[in-house]
This record gives sequence, C-alpha cells and structure tokens, in this order.
Amino acid sequence: MQNFKKNDGSAKLDAALLLVLFIAAYFYAVSIEAFELLIEFMENHEHWQLDELLTSLALIGFGGFVFAWRRYLETRRELEKRKAAEADVNWLAHFDPLTELPNRRMLNEFARKFDCDNDQRRGGNCYVIYSIDLDGFKKINDLHGHAAGDHLLKIVASRLTSFFPEDLIVRLGGDEFVVIAKALAQTDVKQTGMELCKIIGAPMNLEGNNAEVGTSIGIVLLPAQTGSLEEAIQCADIAMYTAKKSTSTKVLLFKEVMREAAKKRADLECQLKEALSADAIEPYYQPLIDLSSNRIYGFEVLARWTLPDGTAIPPVEFIKVAEDAGLISDLSVKLLKKACRDAAAWPNDILLSFNLSPTQLADRLIGLRLINVLNETGFRPQRLEIEITESAMVLDADTAQYVIGQLQQLGIQIALDDFGTGYSSLSQMSRFKFSRLKIDQSFIRDFENDPKQNSIVRAIIALGNGLNVATTAEGIEQPSQLEALKKLGCNSGQGYLLGRPMTAEKAKAALAGPVLPAVRKRA
Ligand code: C2E
Ligand code: MG
Ligand code: MG
Repeated sequence: MQNFKKNDGSAKLDAALLLVLFIAAYFYAVSIEAFELLIEFMENHEHWQLDELLTSLALIGFGGFVFAWRRYLETRRELEKRKAAEADVNWLAHFDPLTELPNRRMLNEFARKFDCDNDQRRGGNCYVIYSIDLDGFKKINDLHGHAAGDHLLKIVASRLTSFFPEDLIVRLGGDEFVVIAKALAQTDVKQTGMELCKIIGAPMNLEGNNAEVGTSIGIVLLPAQTGSLEEAIQCADIAMYTAKKSTSTKVLLFKEVMREAAKKRADLECQLKEALSADAIEPYYQPLIDLSSNRIYGFEVLARWTLPDGTAIPPVEFIKVAEDAGLISDLSVKLLKKACRDAAAWPNDILLSFNLSPTQLADRLIGLRLINVLNETGFRPQRLEIEITESAMVLDADTAQYVIGQLQQLGIQIALDDFGTGYSSLSQMSRFKFSRLKIDQSFIRDFENDPKQNSIVRAIIALGNGLNVATTAEGIEQPSQLEALKKLGCNSGQGYLLGRPMTAEKAKAALAGPVLPAVRKRA
C-alpha cells in the first residue's frame, strides 16, 4: 500500500515535470519561431518526407499520452479498491462482525493508550467497568440453533448500546461483554447493574421463538479500586464469575477477597489437573446397609484427594472446581474405572453407587462414557447405581431426561441423592422411574427430636413405599436413629454408625464379616 502511495506521488511529479518541460519548450520554440523554421526546413527537404514522419510521431505521442492517462486512471482505481480493502481489514481486526461492537483487540489497544490519571487531571470523570456474561446462552444455542443464538447476541448488543450510548462496549467473545463507562456523580453502580440485568433479560423473539437470558455482572470502579484498566477488567471479571456462582445475586461489586478466592481456586485447579494426570484421586467406599437384614448390599463411591503435603481436600470443594474447569468427566471416568476394578473382588450382587454431578447430566455423551468404562472393566450395568441430585433435573431437564433414559435402558439404576434439599417436585417423581430415594442427612440429624423433620422423614418414606421406590437414610450416626428408621419402614441406611468411607481393601474385609459390628451390637 505504501508503495502505491509512493508510485502515485512520483507519477504526479513526473507529470508536473513534463508539463514544465513542455511549457519551457513551447516558449523557447515561440521565441526562436521554431515552427516557421521547421516548415522551411521541411519544404527545403521535401524528398525526406519529414511532414509524414512528424505527423506519425505526433500521432504516436498522442496515443502514448492516452495510454499513460488510462494506466494512471486504472492505478487510481486499484489504489482506491485497496484502500477500501485495507479499511475493511482494519475494521474486521477491531470490530466483531456479528454485533458490530469493538472486539478484544480494540480493547487491548484502548487499554494501552488509556490513562485515567491524566483524564482526572484534565477534569475528566473516573470509570466504571462492567463485565457482563449471559447465563443460559448455550441452552438457547442448543435449543433453537446457532442462528437464533447469533440473533440473541445482536439483540443484547443493541440493548447494551441503548443503555450505554456514550460508552465503550466491547464483545470479548462468546457471550461475554465489557463496558467501560464514564462514572457519573451520584450513580449507584449496583443499581445500574441491576437495571441492566432487567433490560437484557427482557423477553425477545428469536425467529418465532420466545426466549430470555439471564445475566451475571461484575463491577469495578477505576481508579478507586484498581490501578490500570487491564487490572480493572480482570477484577470486574472476577466479580462477574463470583456473581455467576452466587445463588442470591447476579450483580456484584468487586472486593479484594474475591481476588484471593479466585487465586486459591486457580491454584486448586492447577493442583487438580496434576492430581488427575498422576491418577492421585482415589475412590473410597461407604457401606450401604439393608435395614431388614443388616447386611451390606452395596457401597457408595466417594472421591478422596490428599495433597502431597498430607492436606485432604473435601470432595465438595474439588468436585466444584472440576466442574468449572471442565475436568469432571475425566475425573469421573478415572474414578469409576478404579471402582469397577475394585468391585470385581466383591461378591457379584454387591451394588456400586456412583455420584454424578449436575453438570454431567447436561452432557449427552455421559451414557457413552459410562458404557465404555463398564465394557472396559467387564462390570455389569445392573450392579451400577448412579446417584443424581434434584438440581441436575432443573439445570437442563430435557438433556437430563435423555441421559437418564439412556442409562436406564442399559440396566443402570438411578437414585435420587440428598432428597428433599433441592428442587423436589412430585412431577419429577412421576416422570422418572427412580430406583431409590436417598433421604438427606440434614433430615436424619434431628428427626427424633424435631417434629417437623420427623414429619418430612415419614412423608419421604411413605412416598417411597407408595411409588415402590426404595428409601435410604443418609447420615445415620446414632443407634436410636437406626431403630427409629427401621420402625418407620425405611429400607436401607448409610452413615458413620454403619461404616465410614473406607479403602477398597477395608471394604472387602467388611464384606467378609456377617454383619457390621455397630449393627450387630444392636440387633
Ligand atoms: P453425598 O453423595 O451425599 O455423600 C455422602 C456424604 O456424606 C459423604 O461426604 C459422606 O462421607 C458423608 N457422610 C456419610 N455418612 C455420614 C454421617 O453419618 N455423618 C456425616 N456428617 N456425614 C456422613 P463426602 O465424602 O465429603 O462427599 C460429599 C459430597 O461430595 C457427596 O455427597 C457428593 O455429593 C460429592 N461427591 C463425593 N464424591 C463424588 C464423586 O466422585 N463425584 C461426584 N460428582 N460427587 C462426589
Ligand atoms: Mg451420594
Ligand atoms: Mg447424599
């Protein structure tokens, strides 16, 4: 491009030089009366045919001029086309073609030049950074197709532009946006964030389908809370991710503790990746006891992870990290493989009860992953029970239904874990054929003394009996709880009284005994 500009300039210079030369030659010719001299010369040398020669030369010269002019016009046209293409490439490099909003590269360039202190010295305002992420966008894509997803992003972009007409709005990619807004005095930024949530969440029509999306927003004030714009964007992001995980609020103002938590989480994620590749996460087995025979009918697999320094990380902590980091599937497959191999040493009617996270029920391939493990280890699907929680059914009900159906077709049993703590719905109970309801330990803890908890436990057992679904009481710690549950007709139990989570070796030894010691004492 630079070359073209240079060529265009030198062509003009050449033309100007030629013009000057022509004018000088003309005046010189006039001054010496060159034309008259030429005529005289030609008349004196008629036999040389100089007039024809000159006419031909003049014609060639004129033709050359026309040729040069046409080439010049062509070059100009080419130059203009290239200029337009260059502008297009430049636009594409700095803007998102779908929403026509500036992109991450533009934001990076803006951040490099950004100087908030200078702005303040010049009497400018400070800034508020909003990090915005849509909730449930993937579901819209899956449900209505990618064209509908694109349409939704365009609508969100136009809603953002109307809400922040004067400010820089950037689409970072996917369903993530960032807004760098001038802070106006007296503005309650959290309130602004909530209004924005409402505006983005308003129903929209996507090619005939009505849809709504949620929004998580993280906010940071610049320079009040952070130094550079880059750091501010990171902090707004951290606040947004914290809001995303929160069940109570979708708009959060950044706080320093969030950064510490994010750092801890990132470190844990790194360690978890290492632990997974070193195969350091082990299955432990907690006995499941049949309350009529006092015998172990199965074991629940519980993941155990101990750091090299001896610190044990509780599963509720690392399972969440594994879910967020997309490692849960890998973790589950490795764990189930080990468990199936351990269970091969047990009598072949002993059940293996395996927990699946809610996010895994939104994975249409989970059935395939489990079958692969069963095929590889030769474990019968009828001996496997999958524990799912009620929240899994709410996250993506259609996929959950598909996955559950697929697993049941293979002969795998499905238990509803922590029953009563999530979004229990009787319609779910009638829609799915669960093999077991696991009464959450929070109800068992106090049900003997608390009449309300007692009524809940009775109601769950009655529901199970009525629907012909087995009930298992979790968290049995006291012999009196065990007796009371037996009297209420609960089918099975689990808890520290009946056996703590143990290694595969100990599980095998426990199976060798006639009944568990604690139960034997009372029986
Ligand atoms: P859960 O599936 O409800 O498992 C029962 C939890 O209660 C286990 O905690 C168990 O150790 C504990 N527990 C059992 N009996 C008693 C008792 O008598 N008293 C008390 N206080 N607690 C008892 P743990 O092993 O810490 O696991 C916690 C949760 O982490 C599990 O709850 C499950 O939701 C999840 N989890 C554990 N392993 C896995 C896994 O491999 N995959 C997935 N997706 N989740 C897992
Ligand atoms: Mg469980
Ligand atoms: Mg449970």
